[in-house]
Amino acid sequence: MSKITVIGTGYVGLVSGTCFAEIGNQVVCCDIDNSKIKKLNNGVIPIYEPGLEEMVRRNKEAGRLTFTTDIPSAIQDAEIIYIAVGTPMTITGEADLRYVIGVAESIGEHLNSYKVIVNKSTVPVGTGRMVQRLIRENLRDSSIVFDVVSNPEFLREGSALSDCMNMERAVIGATSDKAAQIIADLHEPFDTDLLITDLESAEMIKYASNCFLATKISYINAIANVCERVGADVTSVAKGMGMDSRIGSRFLQAGIGYGGSCFPKDTHALAYIADSVGYNFRLLKSVIAANDAQKLVVVNKLEQVLGDLKGRTIAILGLAFKPNTDDMRDAPSLQIIPALLRQGASLKCYDPIALSEARVHFGDRVLYTEDVEECLLNADAAVILTEWDQVKLLDLAKAKQLMSAPIIVDGRNCFSLELMRESGFIYHSIGRPVVTVEDN
Ligand code: NAD
Repeated sequence: MSKITVIGTGYVGLVSGTCFAEIGNQVVCCDIDNSKIKKLNNGVIPIYEPGLEEMVRRNKEAGRLTFTTDIPSAIQDAEIIYIAVGTPMTITGEADLRYVIGVAESIGEHLNSYKVIVNKSTVPVGTGRMVQRLIRENLRDSSIVFDVVSNPEFLREGSALSDCMNMERAVIGATSDKAAQIIADLHEPFDTDLLITDLESAEMIKYASNCFLATKISYINAIANVCERVGADVTSVAKGMGMDSRIGSRFLQAGIGYGGSCFPKDTHALAYIADSVGYNFRLLKSVIAANDAQKLVVVNKLEQVLGDLKGRTIAILGLAFKPNTDDMRDAPSLQIIPALLRQGASLKCYDPIALSEARVHFGDRVLYTEDVEECLLNADAAVILTEWDQVKLLDLAKAKQLMSAPIIVDGRNCFSLELMRESGFIYHSIGRPVVTVEDN
């Protein structure tokens, strides 16, 4: 059992802190956001993540998990300190390290004995060394020793708990064997593959992994765009490609591009890092450009079917960047909805979880509903932006009755072409032949 303090109680800090408690450690999660900590102390989970509420409650009741804004005490009481604060994108595409810097300075000021400081935030190569330097510069007692480790996080929002409890691998970039062993021991109950490496390589592994997955997504989306023009079906193409074990079938679902809190900022950050060391990462820059363009393909498809969008009522099905999360950071809906509004369309938006987050972005410029059928009522067309189960399991016969016209533009390829043909819809999806009225 270790005494762990997690600084930054967002998606990553809260989930990994809770999982560390679940395997028997004594965990304190802290944050500068008073309202977040107050909610957590009152049993309210500030984010939507399946299963999290129950696991937090269980570990709180067992006395293994506490929440506080008293960061100095949490630093002093810990054996291991995890940094899990945000590293958002700056206007130039660079990772904003101000929160990491703030935490490192504060750790330095309050450090009272040997501890391992572990960075879980996604950070540019060199940040671990910077954290080491900042802690050292801020120490009140320069005889105190400490180690800095990089242990990047690979969880996915929406399945974060199972990703964390059943992690495929843990990457441990360490500056000393002692620290590497402490963090390796901490991971033992997860029964996962460990890669122990140097600080710089661990930091790079995180960016290299996310950018590779983003590349796979942009690649299949580009293939989808060609498929549309040559009469192939990207679902079959992806299936055939994925049967090759060198390629693998995951991250080959064509759609409206990646979004969320990680891929967009991490691709920009790695391109920035490469530029700053004199390497023009053209491949990654085109992945970013392809993704930006891909978000708007549903707008073009809608124009193809409806012509002028002015005064048309469009049902938007899904706002979150992916199912099972309320996270809208860099969601494709943030680009698509303003583009449709600029063309004069009236929008009714459905999402089962993300509406309060959506209101922050769109205010009263769109209508909101948590009922998918209410959203479809009298719509001239529906556009699918998130593949929620509620959308995939839609009663298509009922949907057809509710809508003014049976038109669906599907940015997530939720339905088979056969089903849409049988159901009598005009159906435009990504990288697949169009289902028209003549087909019905
Ligand atoms: P988040 O924005 O949800 O949470 C960050 C938290 O840090 C916030 O609650 C904020 O109030 C807190 N914070 C900021 N400064 C602080 C300080 N000085 N002291 C204490 N708390 C402070 O961010 P997130 O999504 O959890 O991401 C955290 C890091 O993990 C990022 O670097 C991100 O790239 C990386 N990451 C995220 C995911 C993901 O799916 N969200 C997955 C893997 C890695």
